[in-house]
Amino acid sequence: MTLATDFVDAIPLTRLDNDDPELLTELLATVEAVARKAAFTGGAEVEAFEEEWAAYCGTAHAVGVSSGTEALALALRALDIGPGDEVVVPANSFIATAEAVTLVGATPRFVDVDPVTALVTADHIAPAITPCTRAVMPVHLYGRTVDMAPIMRLARSAGIAVVEDACQAHGAHVDGRRAGAVGDAGAFSFYPAKNLGAWGDGGALVTDDDAIADRVRLLRSHGERPRYHHRMPGTTARLDALQAAILRVKLRRLEAWNDGRRRAGAALTAALAGAPVRVPAPARADHVFHQYVIGALDRDALRAHLERWGIATGVHYPVPIHRTDAYRELYPGVGSLPVAEALAESSCSLPMHPSLGEAEITRIAEAVHSFGGS
Ligand SMILES: *Cc1c(COP(=O)(O)O)cnc(C)c1O
Repeated sequence: MTLATDFVDAIPLTRLDNDDPELLTELLATVEAVARKAAFTGGAEVEAFEEEWAAYCGTAHAVGVSSGTEALALALRALDIGPGDEVVVPANSFIATAEAVTLVGATPRFVDVDPVTALVTADHIAPAITPCTRAVMPVHLYGRTVDMAPIMRLARSAGIAVVEDACQAHGAHVDGRRAGAVGDAGAFSFYPAKNLGAWGDGGALVTDDDAIADRVRLLRSHGERPRYHHRMPGTTARLDALQAAILRVKLRRLEAWNDGRRRAGAALTAALAGAPVRVPAPARADHVFHQYVIGALDRDALRAHLERWGIATGVHYPVPIHRTDAYRELYPGVGSLPVAEALAESSCSLPMHPSLGEAEITRIAEAVHSFGGS
């Protein structure tokens, strides 16, 4: 049997900046300019990026931090959430959503998600609210936006805060705003593979709340203001100037990149019509396709089949957070959150990036259609 991989290039799950020579040249010049000034911490690049990111998200403030996980954790600390407090978190997310809660000494309370969108809804959150609940963290997973209005109403009536995990949804629209701008605070990751990625780790918190922004500014750098006057115990969680400078260049391309992802997502869905898999449901508001996730009854066999076709796949995520070794003590019973558990067994991420081309989409679709055939 002749394999597709014998005569064509493999299709990777994603592409990074080294695949774009023009961008790479521009970014290398940016890095050199920062290096020649030796302006590595704080300063003009960080301040300019914060202004530009806040303007893009439509929030009063953006605060650059060292990762998405820190953005989430510092938001919780700024809200005075800590030991004895509970934060409601969807079980179907990257583990960082829960880790941020653990980092501040609070307890994550995992809830299930909607089987069609894989997202948390107000109906999942409401029964999990106890007298100890202080916040909820909706996750715009895969780049698809959560239905925020019912969650905001629920949170306001329960007197709890909303911290959006927008780490996979840079620039996605939700109810006339951007993901991250709807709740009390929103957190972004600039991990290299995200829709807006740095050359290493980075993150940002956005908010309209002056007090939250101010506290996160203090906490990210040892509670220091002015120099060597420490108002509260903080940490080292700043956004590097090199990363800010890189992000400023890439931010100018984010809208076009997200459009490329939306286009590739729609084309994949059209090409997969009739294939023996579950394609992503149409977006209620917006979907910027950080990941293009399909469902298959025999997911592992599908992945092996696609690998033979030279098509890389991923699984986001193979174990729901409450079933990981890190958190299973909180949830001893198997099957306690059945939708998240079923998604973990059936989900398969296909290649997705802004420049995924027609020929690649055709080949991916052909390969998926032929699954279960020859
Ligand atoms: C990437 C990611 C994070 C954490 O971001 P880091 O920058 O890696 O710390 C948090 N939540 C979700 C949903 C993510 O995808």
